[in-house]
Amino acid sequence: MIVSNPAFSAEDTPYVIVLGIAQDGGAPHAGCTKACCAERWDDPEKQFSVSCLGIVDPRTNEVWMIDATPDFPEQYHVLAQNGKHTLKGIFLTHAHIGHYTGLVHLGREVMGAKSMPVYAMPRMRTFLESNGPWDQLVSLDQIKLKLLENESPQALNDRLTVIPFQVPHRDEYSETVGYRVVGPSFSLVYIPDIDKWERWERDINEVILENDYILIDGTFFGDGEIPNRSMEGIPHPFIVESMERFGNLPGKEKSKVRFIHLNHTNPVLHSESSERKNMTLKGYKAARRNEKFKL
Ligand SMILES: [Zn+2]
Ligand SMILES: [Zn+2]
Ligand SMILES: [Zn+2]
Repeated sequence: MIVSNPAFSAEDTPYVIVLGIAQDGGAPHAGCTKACCAERWDDPEKQFSVSCLGIVDPRTNEVWMIDATPDFPEQYHVLAQNGKHTLKGIFLTHAHIGHYTGLVHLGREVMGAKSMPVYAMPRMRTFLESNGPWDQLVSLDQIKLKLLENESPQALNDRLTVIPFQVPHRDEYSETVGYRVVGPSFSLVYIPDIDKWERWERDINEVILENDYILIDGTFFGDGEIPNRSMEGIPHPFIVESMERFGNLPGKEKSKVRFIHLNHTNPVLHSESSERKNMTLKGYKAARRNEKFKL
């Protein structure tokens, strides 16, 4: 009789799950009366929550979240599976509203969390400690701030590690990090917000070669996407620029890429758009809600 070793069963494999794929304002976007959002208001199938990842260890039923977004209630619900999974901590990327304001739900008005570990870089931590209402979460011990250090691995348990790394972005209130999530077999890189690739000291093409899944800033498809507003003040790598930059990589490498953090104006959010078809033809994908990546 063959007895399968539970330590190696497939259901046991830890994974990352995509809990949201939109830019900070989600889609539909507050106040948007344009065609990009017109069909979304009344059709839940066409609504996209804000970029967020969950890390799941099915062996221990422990889960972690990367970023606490304005869509935290629904994202927590999907991740926790009605209490089957226990949230062990939240890793924050930076202090823009799509990435941390979901923490309000941990407060006494809602969940009344107890010592929930919240991992943050030094400026992000100081921001939370010294501004309301976040400082109350700290003083009432609803969240327990855990200091992260650039490039310093943070062990989640005996087979999962998270490594923050700083990236250039509009750092008004905090520094900005991406995360590398490393499991027993595979690694995933998550960079929801970054200025242009050339402003980063690392070569994104090397990062693709060195990791297995690459979930990166695809906020805007191309220049001119926001009419009547200069896009120089809100720099992101346009998807067209990223595709150009990755153009010489083999198809196997391109297939690791998922564009995420998509703005409501991004034509890639429409499955039938010519831009999306063009992107697919070139070998790239947009992240999908509930998509899983085995670690
Ligand atoms: Zn953002
Ligand atoms: Zn819109
Ligand atoms: Zn940002």
